[in-house]
Amino acid sequence: MEEFDLFADDIDDVNTIVKTQESLFDTEQRLGAMLDAMPIGLLFHTQQGILYANDQACQLLRAQKSELVGRHFLDYIREAEFLEANSLLQSAFEAGQKAVETESVIACGSGPDKLIKITASRLPWEGTPVIQVLFQDITAQKRAEQSLRKLSITDELTGAFNRRHVFYEAESYLQQEKRPPVTIAMLDVDHFKSVNDTYGHALGDMVLKEITRLAHGFVPTISNCKSAMFARIGGEEFLFLLPGVTKENGFAIVDEFRRTMMRLRIPSDDGRLVSITASFGVAEYREEDKSIDKLLSRADAALYEAKANGRNQVCQAK
Ligand code: GH3
Ligand code: MG
Ligand code: MG
Repeated sequence: MEEFDLFADDIDDVNTIVKTQESLFDTEQRLGAMLDAMPIGLLFHTQQGILYANDQACQLLRAQKSELVGRHFLDYIREAEFLEANSLLQSAFEAGQKAVETESVIACGSGPDKLIKITASRLPWEGTPVIQVLFQDITAQKRAEQSLRKLSITDELTGAFNRRHVFYEAESYLQQEKRPPVTIAMLDVDHFKSVNDTYGHALGDMVLKEITRLAHGFVPTISNCKSAMFARIGGEEFLFLLPGVTKENGFAIVDEFRRTMMRLRIPSDDGRLVSITASFGVAEYREEDKSIDKLLSRADAALYEAKANGRNQVCQAK
């Protein structure tokens, strides 16, 4: 009887073990299914290589699960980003369970590279150190951020910087402790109303775009002024911001641009070539200006003088 009971106990034990195994297997499968459903790439990674990859990781790295296991995450990182990604993984191995993150670029075979955000942290178990590497594709998000930023700092018609941005940049130069000289030059197209009236508003728009194209070619050629900027600050009014440039040099730079502008020819619909001129007012920031507004009003007064003296010329502020 006792033997029979023992036997029954054995059967119970075996059943329990099988049930436990089944439930463990089931748990593993469920866990796997949950990890595969995550909209983010997940790797379990030792110092040597990948132990586990979920479906999203396979999709992002364009590889099968079986290919990924044993490979190293860094194998997929673009060479230029390699050192930074490597140091991130190393700090994850060292950093307890504190997550560390960075942005990086993965090479995707013949497809375009993907910009990714990586978050890595050490997993809380004993033995061989294992980290989890979470990564997601942020290419579209970055592109959207960049185009929003571009929209917020540029003028829609011409692509020149807008008024708000150039004033913001000018302010930041004026507030520097060891401020370089800062010179601005206001540009106002001469008789622009009659250009519109004679050739039409569309050609007027074309003139504004051509001036900007010319300035975008000219700005990088200005010597000793890497941070020069060109912006549209009004209808047919533009501004050169020339950090590190004195008013004398500013005068020479802007006069060269004025002469370049005189050579511009814009074809009208009826085959005529339209030429234009502009007047300029140049002013260098002085301590007593105290604000960008004062600097602008001095440049504006110089511009007014250039107009009054017959246009197509540069005048310096008093
Ligand atoms: P001045 O030599 O004294 O500067 O004369 P002006 O005709 O250039 O100056 P005015 O201020 O009388 O006219 C500016 C004109 O610029 C009037 C306006 O219709 C035109 N304008 C402003 N913004 C735009 C634009 O985006 N596109 C076009 N085509 N014209 C514009
Ligand atoms: Mg004007
Ligand atoms: Mg004008």
